[in-house]
Amino acid sequence: MELGQNLTSGNVLLTCEKRSTRLSAVKIDHALCSNEANSSEHTSYSKNIASDFQCSSDSLNSGVSAIVCSSEGGICSDVLRQNMAKSSDEPAVKRKKVDNKMENQADLEKVAEIQKKWELPLWKFRRGRLCVTDITSQSWCEQQLLYTYTLPTIPVENKAMVKGSSLHLARELEVHDIVPVKVTSREDSWAIKLLNIMDAINGLSFDRLCIREMPIFGDPFEMGVFMVGIIDELKYNESGELQLLEFKSRSSSKTLPGKAQKLNHALQVMLYKQMFDELVSGKLSREMILGHVNLDEGKVLGSAVLDHMQKTGIHFDKFGELLDAALLQFQFSSLPHVDSLEIEYCFQGDCLSFATDKVQFDSDWLRKKLDHSFLFWRGVREAEGVDIEDAWKCQNCDFVDICEWRKKKQQECMEKNQISINKL
Ligand code: SF4
Repeated sequence: MELGQNLTSGNVLLTCEKRSTRLSAVKIDHALCSNEANSSEHTSYSKNIASDFQCSSDSLNSGVSAIVCSSEGGICSDVLRQNMAKSSDEPAVKRKKVDNKMENQADLEKVAEIQKKWELPLWKFRRGRLCVTDITSQSWCEQQLLYTYTLPTIPVENKAMVKGSSLHLARELEVHDIVPVKVTSREDSWAIKLLNIMDAINGLSFDRLCIREMPIFGDPFEMGVFMVGIIDELKYNESGELQLLEFKSRSSSKTLPGKAQKLNHALQVMLYKQMFDELVSGKLSREMILGHVNLDEGKVLGSAVLDHMQKTGIHFDKFGELLDAALLQFQFSSLPHVDSLEIEYCFQGDCLSFATDKVQFDSDWLRKKLDHSFLFWRGVREAEGVDIEDAWKCQNCDFVDICEWRKKKQQECMEKNQISINKL
């Protein structure tokens, strides 16, 4: 493959070379998320304390009037300002001692606050951002999702999963080539995401009827939780409407999945639509992205990423410059919102599509669903397992033998039965 030619034609999807062992974009996104999440909790915790702490110390050193803190630092700076005002007419030496004491106090408060934040599931398990698949797994069984994060498990890829991935990959290769790019930093990885989104938006705006495996991210409904995902397909249908499509493969027969699984698929595509519509409406801001993902806007991108950018006519060095260009493109894109949502089912046996399901977008339902999900991620409520009527899900669950939720529900059932018997 001649790299330059493909890049010029625009029909390529860049992937991070160090993570390119898993080829489909869906897998890459999972790999990215899990790589980030798998990094030692202690290390990431220390790093974040270090970076937040740096902000606090720098701000303190630069003088009270110049304090610029993140939302976590708001309390510290207010306390500091009040205390500084109180001490303004005391002798200089005494004031210095008080200042030092307050700095220590403010720093301690800051550390305690960060520690508290890192105890929340959103930070402890996902470093402050979620994948769309976290929400769908959670919707299937939240307790199961929690076990996958807290208990040692060996990820197993069965035959059906491998086949599903290769079908995805085959579809992806129908519309573009995959070009691995060596990345050396998190900013590089995010630059690749941005370049792929920019290319997809460009393609749909001008010369392509269909794009596949488009990365997407954002803070749906501005609820304060940053999410990332991969849209399987966006295309214009015969009526010229923009259609978002999710591709699912069935391994055993040409049958549609049950109600619970369909609901999960619907949740997934609705979430993608919400994020896409917000993106092309220009609702994403650099503060939101940098704040949620903790990236360095001044970071010079790696040479491999810069090479690729230059070949496509993008001449920026720093991550922040590329981010600004991407945000401008999103803001001024002429793309419409997604008009319709569809799930396409394909049978793994003959690799042919056999059914499509239309999904009606329901903004209120989606918002409520996210509201409930985020209560868990923010540590407001405990994880919940499945309801009694969905107990069939437990039959295929790896944690069925140790599941506390299931034991609790069984106990409740036994007690209810006993009460009914006693009444007879
Ligand atoms: S056994 Fe049932 S309730 Fe428990 S984690 Fe598995 S699916 Fe959820």
